[in-house]
Amino acid sequence: SRADITYFGAGPAALPTDVLEAASKALLDYNGTGLGIAEHSHRSELATNIINEAKADLANYLEFSPENYEVIFMQAGGTGEFAASVYNLVGAWVSRQHAALEKELGDDEEAILAALRKKVETELKVDYIVTGGWSLKAYQEAQRLLGPEYVNLVADARTINDGKFGKIPDESTWKLSKDAAYVYFCDNETVDGVEFPAFPSVLTPDANGNGPIVVADMSSNILSRRIPVNNYSLIFFGAQKNLGSTGVTVAILKKSFLPPHTVQPSAPLLRKLGLPIPPIILQYEIIAKNNSLYNTLSIFDVYIAGQVLKKLLNTYPDKVDGQQAVAEKKASLIYGALEAHPDVYRIVPDKTVRSKMNICFRVTKNGDTDETEKSFLKAAAVLGLTGLKGHRSVGGIRASNYNSIPLEGAEKLAKFVHDFAKAS
Ligand code: PMP
Repeated sequence: SRADITYFGAGPAALPTDVLEAASKALLDYNGTGLGIAEHSHRSELATNIINEAKADLANYLEFSPENYEVIFMQAGGTGEFAASVYNLVGAWVSRQHAALEKELGDDEEAILAALRKKVETELKVDYIVTGGWSLKAYQEAQRLLGPEYVNLVADARTINDGKFGKIPDESTWKLSKDAAYVYFCDNETVDGVEFPAFPSVLTPDANGNGPIVVADMSSNILSRRIPVNNYSLIFFGAQKNLGSTGVTVAILKKSFLPPHTVQPSAPLLRKLGLPIPPIILQYEIIAKNNSLYNTLSIFDVYIAGQVLKKLLNTYPDKVDGQQAVAEKKASLIYGALEAHPDVYRIVPDKTVRSKMNICFRVTKNGDTDETEKSFLKAAAVLGLTGLKGHRSVGGIRASNYNSIPLEGAEKLAKFVHDFAKAS
């Protein structure tokens, strides 16, 4: 039964049982309305309340100001956000350049267009720090949408680790563009178990708050650690790991990228500049203006995310710091057990960048890794420890230590790691 299992899958991940129990009732009859939460109109007042509460609870839990940041619910997953970040932030760049040229050249539209074309050709750059499989995919998507000539590879972690991910290149070696439209990184690489230990110093804003435009994918570590939200222009994450169920993706966007501060360029202008035109469903401006209800949003998924946030807020008086302390404790228990048996276990990423969320390791006995890992997974499953198989692209073992894994679950895994090593 559910109570016998600790599920370490990388996403979709386990959800708190009490949230699912409440959700199962809400699916049949939401708050005595006689209609289930997935049946109510997304335009109903109750749907709007669910959206607004989830937005407010997210800001409260992560401690950012809703005055400065908009929370947007989207539907195309982390993968959709790879594209959305390109479209929206390149759009914002065009819009800034356009405004500056209007000041300089007045209303001479032809001159403005010619100057803008030149700027696109010579100055437009988007910067990617590639530290694992997901930032690599985002980088490739940017190349595909914009053309490789506009996409600058700031650093590729494979170049310092024998062609494999597992380290983060020293910031002194990063090749940042001058005034990039944005700098992108993935805070926690789910497949490779690499997490940025802290916000990169070279990207930190100065005392006046001026700095690069930073975008981060936090799909697999959001809500698990304190983040300096003010250092980011855009943070996005799919819900299906630390927040809720698959089907809703969240973007936290600095309001200066929305009207009236920034108005996205029109389709005809983008066409003239040879830049890609975003599908309307990926335009933050449109979705934000409609409070995430431009089209039919799965209110059920927002409701689940909202319930998880309420549970987190009720559990931890010190909000994300409370969850961070638990995540660190669980991770150190599991890493500690692995480190105690270096003859059997090899932790994949470098110690300085080990993820607290996705713990990736190899298991070898008698010189045989494949067979040993198979028997590790089998013996773990007998004890109810499931979902431990590594990503198909890299193999090995991966224990995803998301928020819903209780401390006892991590303890059980750590004990098993010891016992398996000791058993002959
Ligand atoms: N970014 C990261 C860090 C991820 O872990 C994932 C999915 N595991 C994605 C992006 C892609 O998300 P989705 O499957 O929701 O498109």
